[in-house]
Amino acid sequence: MKKAFKKVLVFIAIVGGIFYTMRYNVTEQNPGHDNRDESSLNEKYKPVNQNNVSKTTKLILVNSEYGLSEGYKPEKLTIPNIPFANGVEQEEKHVESVIVNPLERLFNVAKDEGIVLLGNSGYRSYKSQKETYTNRVKAEGKKLADAYVAKPGFSEHQTGLCMDITNNDRYFVEGTKEADWLAENCHRFGFIIRYPYGKKNITGIEYEPWHIRYVGEEAAKYIYDNNITLEEYLNK
Ligand SMILES: [Zn+2]
Repeated sequence: MKKAFKKVLVFIAIVGGIFYTMRYNVTEQNPGHDNRDESSLNEKYKPVNQNNVSKTTKLILVNSEYGLSEGYKPEKLTIPNIPFANGVEQEEKHVESVIVNPLERLFNVAKDEGIVLLGNSGYRSYKSQKETYTNRVKAEGKKLADAYVAKPGFSEHQTGLCMDITNNDRYFVEGTKEADWLAENCHRFGFIIRYPYGKKNITGIEYEPWHIRYVGEEAAKYIYDNNITLEEYLNK
């Protein structure tokens, strides 16, 4: 009788152990993710919590307050069929596949309208951001590095949703026909000038006429028409 009781106890312990392990694994595989679809994230002014954002969401926010983890990588990276400036690293030619078509259309329409644009920098991995940051700290000290280089995980380029654009003169500033065309037209293809002039107090970044970010046509038009930033659009 005693022996049988012991056997039952051992059995319960084993089954309990297996059950506990299974539950633990399931929790591990889904760290804080729910399956909100993209349309719900598209609602205006809906706060986007980084932990709940799927990897391809067009409205993901990355700035000095909202970073990406070391393991964050866009779902599918592709090299778009656009001309690149000389010397662009292979990694930086890649973008998240959802922006390939809009980006190629933007480049083609620009060309049709007499504007030659060149891709200069798209995706930047956490690893390469870390290298850039570390090298800068070594060369100039932490204070200067922090002023000019994003800490690893805090560059929007890690999303694969943006591209730095340049021109044949490698002089892409306000007043050049390429930069002016981009500012007036990129929203037609779902892109915004992510760091507009006079908005550093909101974006945390100086005016960058060359950095375009894909947010989808609806959001891009709203942001362009109202002269606001992505932070303001998301009510951050
Ligand atoms: Zn950029």
